[in-house]
Amino acid sequence: MIPALLPTYSRAPLAFEKGDGVWLETADGTRYLDLGGGIAVNVLGHAHPALVAALTDQAGKLWHVSNLYEIPGQQALAEALVGATFANTVFFTNSGTEACELAVKMVRKHWFERGEERTEILAFTGAFHGRSSAGIAVAGSEKLTRGFAPLLPGFRQLPFGDHDALRAALTDRTAAVILEPVQGEGGIVPVPDPCLKGLRDLCDETGALLVLDEVQCGMGRTGKLFAHEWAGIQPDIMMVAKGIGGGFPLGALLATEAAASGMSAGSHGSTYGGNPLAMAVGGKVMEIVSDPAFLDEVSRKSGLMRQRLEGLVAAHPQVFGTVRGAGLMLGLTCIVPNADVIAAGFDAGVLTVPAADNVIRILPPLTIADDEIAEGVARLDRAATAIEAVWQ
Ligand code: PLP
Repeated sequence: MIPALLPTYSRAPLAFEKGDGVWLETADGTRYLDLGGGIAVNVLGHAHPALVAALTDQAGKLWHVSNLYEIPGQQALAEALVGATFANTVFFTNSGTEACELAVKMVRKHWFERGEERTEILAFTGAFHGRSSAGIAVAGSEKLTRGFAPLLPGFRQLPFGDHDALRAALTDRTAAVILEPVQGEGGIVPVPDPCLKGLRDLCDETGALLVLDEVQCGMGRTGKLFAHEWAGIQPDIMMVAKGIGGGFPLGALLATEAAASGMSAGSHGSTYGGNPLAMAVGGKVMEIVSDPAFLDEVSRKSGLMRQRLEGLVAAHPQVFGTVRGAGLMLGLTCIVPNADVIAAGFDAGVLTVPAADNVIRILPPLTIADDEIAEGVARLDRAATAIEAVWQ
């Protein structure tokens, strides 16, 4: 019999009752160090006092009014995002997938309004842009799309890292190119800065719009507010979600004036997107994370985390292969099945997240302290030792 809860997830047999910073606790009081951060969402950890205050204060005043009315918190957060990025305009969504939906619509409308028949959007193998019909069509993998045909047309996936294929495919008929500066679900694979620069140049030469998906790698995760800043480039459109709500469902689509020029009144909407509760939390997250001192700390701590993980990998060559990623978005390739490493982590009291390519993801709250980094890696070390005992 089908369970009451649609069984689309294979869940770990763990239920948490409360959280505090990087720690999660089950009902029996067992504590787990959360190196997964709710899949890169809890940028300020669990129950951050400033976010709890922002949410509860707003909850006592006003939850929802709809986008039929002005929402001052939206204006404020949009201005903060515009002030801190390439963007001239912002639309608030409830998730990354919805940001992807709008990105696709915005690209198509942009070219439609200009009277140009440019509809093809290029993406890359290993990409992940969400689970909606547009999201799976963009990424195009067998895993995501199997059984869901007919797919939304107009997308082509190029082999990740194949510059010749990209040069051949990207023409003055291309509507846009979409990619994650650091692939997340694909196994924590950063796009090298020179490649991002080269891609920007190709888009400029052909007029194609550059859409960056910073749902997972954005909001301070790599030590800059957005990952593309490391390459010194700017997109035309950018998807944001996860970290921007710190755990409250929130996403955003950022765009230049030119890219967004087709989106007039009535062309898109959302009942909940940018409601007062989301804006109260998102505004506070933005205020804390966009502080240069906060971002410098992320960079410093990511160096420490990486160094410790390199030590872990060196100590357990039968379990781990390499460390890769950027900032506090790190991946460990595994020699044994990644599911075994994650399960051994549960026993050792540490949480990590699986990704493709047999990787475990390390996406801790950006507020993780130095001693918590040491403790997290010590717990991973215990997990690896337990695996070695079984596999030897
Ligand atoms: N894009 C990327 C890069 C993601 O990692 C995700 C989620 O994992 C999404 C889009 C979809 O976001 P959401 O799950 O909030 O709809």
